[in-house]
Amino acid sequence: MLTNDELAKWDRENFMHPSTHLAQFARGEAPQRIVTGGEGCHITDRDGNRLLDGFAGLYCVNVGYGRKQIADAIAKQAHELAYYHAYAGHGSEASITLAKMVMDRAPAGMARVYFGLGGSDANETNVKLVWYYNNILNRPQKKKIISRWRGYHGSGLVTGSLTGLELFHKKFDLPLAQVIHTEAPYYFRRPDAAMSEADFTAHCVERLEALIEAEGADTIAAFIGEPILGTGGIVPPPAGYWEAIQKVLARHDILLIADEVVTGFGRLGTMFGSDHYGMKPDLITCAKGLTSAYAPLSATIVGERMWTVLEQGTDENGVLGHGWTYSAHPIGAAAGIANLELIDELGLVGNAGRVGAYLNRRMAEAVGAHAHVGEVRGEGMLCAVELVADREARRFFDASEGKGAKVVAAMLKRGVIARAMPQGDILGFAPPLCLTEAEADRIVAVTAEALAEVL
Ligand code: PLP
Repeated sequence: MLTNDELAKWDRENFMHPSTHLAQFARGEAPQRIVTGGEGCHITDRDGNRLLDGFAGLYCVNVGYGRKQIADAIAKQAHELAYYHAYAGHGSEASITLAKMVMDRAPAGMARVYFGLGGSDANETNVKLVWYYNNILNRPQKKKIISRWRGYHGSGLVTGSLTGLELFHKKFDLPLAQVIHTEAPYYFRRPDAAMSEADFTAHCVERLEALIEAEGADTIAAFIGEPILGTGGIVPPPAGYWEAIQKVLARHDILLIADEVVTGFGRLGTMFGSDHYGMKPDLITCAKGLTSAYAPLSATIVGERMWTVLEQGTDENGVLGHGWTYSAHPIGAAAGIANLELIDELGLVGNAGRVGAYLNRRMAEAVGAHAHVGEVRGEGMLCAVELVADREARRFFDASEGKGAKVVAAMLKRGVIARAMPQGDILGFAPPLCLTEAEADRIVAVTAEALAEVL
């Protein structure tokens, strides 16, 4: 058995971690944690820590850790049929069953589901389907995709372009020319403090209209957005936002992609974020909550108007030339089935709404009046605390001070994981949907203690 030090050395010398300061990590200056297990909302590590995971991994372990029901389903599937591909009409009982379960839960107006591996590849699929759709409709110039600053849609070439965060563009020559960005629906950071929420929604709509006019509606294929901004800062949209945006899109014949990688399967207290905000998307991106991350699996749910054109396209052109070796992987599908069953059995969608509202309320009561808290906001089992240098002036800390990261480190010392969101000093919370009120209380108490220590 390797010692902790030996394993940590192997890690530094061999493993290129995602989203990591590579040089600091190699020099042993960056955080390093070797996780060994998990139960409910807690994880354990090789140093003997037991931590309350206030971010469900990367907002994905929705049913919590250590669910035997899902592990058993994975093992059973691996024994019976670990793999067969899904090309050309092939499949497994697991992938067909999961497709039916997803479509039974999907918002109205959806026609089929395609399975991939993660959120990034699902959005890659979406962009290709949108381009295919417009080629079949003989509109080859209608190809640009509008995304929002602070949106997060993955870190591939096109999906990293859709992502509206500088960190994911810098030095990668992104965004690609086909992707353009519009205003983030971020009321707290509105351009004019005097604006009401309704004014700010109108402002976002004006900015979108101006962009469409400048580019030409006949060049714009789709608009992509998370129902509530996630990685960009956990920001619910201002009142009336989605209704107003959808009117603009309809007027210009622009498709809507709802990126529900975070919100899909219950996080907002509804099965989908689209249900919560009255969105009527043409494509829905799912990943994380589909399997609670027990196995990698994503889904692209295709709406009826696109599906009709995809069928027409293959009648005219033959086989749709798109697919991955691991599309609809049987082990991922088995995990997905067991996960969705568990969500129903435990009533986790309702729990996310109830305990999420409790977490948000308690957080606002405990830290909302702190001199360096600008806003506590959230929806369902998502919560954010935005730090400011000056509350009245809504002045932010200099990023180099790393205040958010310092608060998160002070929380970790006390056994609670929060996430310092990548842009701005924002503490993010996205616990498993099975969080209890007592666990919510602990997250809130530790946040207050850490804030008192750092600020
Ligand atoms: N879309 C959203 C809204 C996400 O939050 C993420 C990941 O956090 C992605 C897409 C990308 O998913 P993945 O990391 O599985 O590629």
